[in-house]
Amino acid sequence: MVEIKKLGSTKRFGARYGARLKHILSKIEKEQKGRQICPYCHSDKVRRIAVGIWHCGRCDAKFTGKAYSVRKVVTAEEAEQETTDEKKDRLKAESEEKEEPENDE
Ligand SMILES: [Zn+2]
Repeated sequence: MVEIKKLGSTKRFGARYGARLKHILSKIEKEQKGRQICPYCHSDKVRRIAVGIWHCGRCDAKFTGKAYSVRKVVTAEEAEQETTDEKKDRLKAESEEKEEPENDE
């Protein structure tokens, strides 16, 4: 079964601008308008004021972050990729350690 992508917020463009671009923008806007956690009080009342500028409605903190999110949003796929990369790096480091003879003296 093929997963059907929903246009979400980009439905407002109707039939214009092309499906591919609308899907890309939809992903970004979902992140931008979605729940953001305040780094100071950990509430989710953070709103985007401008590009990279965020404001928390609970503790009234105004701070900088990324353009579309407070912090980088790591998707499940990216997390999987990161862990596999880390494993590769560790295996590489271990194999390098084995090659070099240890000098304790
Ligand atoms: Zn806050």
